Formats: sequence, structure tokens, C-alpha cells
Amino acid sequence: MSVSGNGLHTGAPVSITLKPAPENSGYIFVRTDLDNFEIPASVEYISHCSYATTLMRRGVVLSTCEHLLSALRGCGIDNCFVEIDSIELPIMDGSSEDFIRLIEQAGITQQDAPRRFFRVLKEVKIKEGDRKMSIEPSEKFEVECLIDFKHPFINKQKMHYVAENGSFRREIASARTFGFTQEIEMLRKANLARGGSLDNAIVLTSEGMLNETPLRFDDEFVRHKVLDIIGDLALLGMPIKGKVIAEKSGHSVHAQLMSKLLKTENAWEIVQS
Ligand SMILES: [Zn+2]
Repeated sequence: MSVSGNGLHTGAPVSITLKPAPENSGYIFVRTDLDNFEIPASVEYISHCSYATTLMRRGVVLSTCEHLLSALRGCGIDNCFVEIDSIELPIMDGSSEDFIRLIEQAGITQQDAPRRFFRVLKEVKIKEGDRKMSIEPSEKFEVECLIDFKHPFINKQKMHYVAENGSFRREIASARTFGFTQEIEMLRKANLARGGSLDNAIVLTSEGMLNETPLRFDDEFVRHKVLDIIGDLALLGMPIKGKVIAEKSGHSVHAQLMSKLLKTENAWEIVQS
């Protein structure tokens, strides 16, 4: 099954195709425009994460992978090849909804191997100014997220997400990315957000928003933040048993937490069920 769109930052047209992958292979991006060069979705290939999460292996880049990874993880998929013919995933409507539809059309196959989980054994924290993030043991995957933006539509929003029967699809998948007009001008000057439009983001002015269609949820903003966290943490390579607590976090904080977690002795184990 395939879907086409444009990259948010490059604006370039791009198509992706999802294909089944063997047990225990995780998610693997395949650059069909570069002789099927493979970039596994793994923490070790995170290259930078200023406005989106970018992977790089041997100089080959794959950008803005978080919304697709979130959809795969949110649908309970553990192994998948993602064929892509350009440098950046398509932004679609700024959420994970089209990717969910793609996965549902393709169908999900049960595999024989026991399912592996990344189980958190002790708390690991990161603090960077007023941005905080931690992960602690839990038998489920949970995300407790707080954001705080001085804007009449946002201010403080808090959400506690628990991954269970369809909760991703209901509560998270359709929440769109958002940006502020000033920030978008800056990005444009830096030659980024070239594919950005009101069709793929909520664009906030100082008092309101430019979009004429209503928000999908009153707290769509914090829901999108949870979507990003699920997508970035998918780079740990398997479903997680643990609880994430995030306060004003962003892609780079997510990356720092994962690398600290992986390096901390006795903080995690891989279990089968
Ligand atoms: Zn996002």
C-alpha cells in the first residue's frame, strides 16, 4: 500500500510504501531512490532533531520520520519496511491519520515469534532549563504530557495517554502539528517549512489562528505532543513497558532521554511475552 504527499521542510513530492518485514526487524526505511539503501529506525541513527526528527546512516538522510513511526507504534505494528523515494516523509495533513488509514488498508499480519518489549526497570530523567522528561517502570506504555504556551488557545494543557485497545486512533492520531506565524517566517528564511501550509498545520497568530476550519480537539496541541513522543520513542526499536512524563519537551529532549536511558546500567531489559 502506498501514499504520496509532500515533505514539510523540503516541499518535495514523495511516495511511501509499507511492506511486511521479518520478525524482530523493527522498522526499516528503504530509500528506493538510492539503490534501496536501508536506514533502520533506531536511536543510533538520530542525526539532528531541531524541528523534526532526522535520521542519518553513512551520510544518507531521512527526515521528519516521527508521525509515521507514531502511527506504526500506535497501531501495534512491530516490524515493517517503509519504502520511500525521497529524503523526507510526506507531511500529509500534519497528523498521523493518513498513515493509520494506509496501515488499515494494508492489513496487519500476526507473526509467530514471541513479542519483544523494552521494559523500563528504573527511573531515568533529563532536565534542560524548564524542559523536563523522565521514564519510569510501568506494565503498560503511558505518556503523561504537559505543555505551556502563552497563547489564548493553549496556555497549560495536560494529557495522560495509556496505550490500549485503539486509544491511539481515538485520542491521538488526528491531532495536527502546530506552529506560530513568527516561527514559520524564521523557518522559511532558513529554507525550511517550504511545504508548510494551512492544509498540514495549525498556524497560530498572537491572538488566534489562520486556519478557518475548527480545531479537532480543544486540546489538540498537547495531543500532538503525545503523538510526537510516541513517534520519537519508537526509535527504541520495540514497544515499551514504561511511563513517560514530559513537561515542555521537544524532539531533542526526547532524543537525550533515550540515549541516557540506553546508557544507564540496569535501567531496562528486553523481555518476551
Ligand atoms: Zn509532530
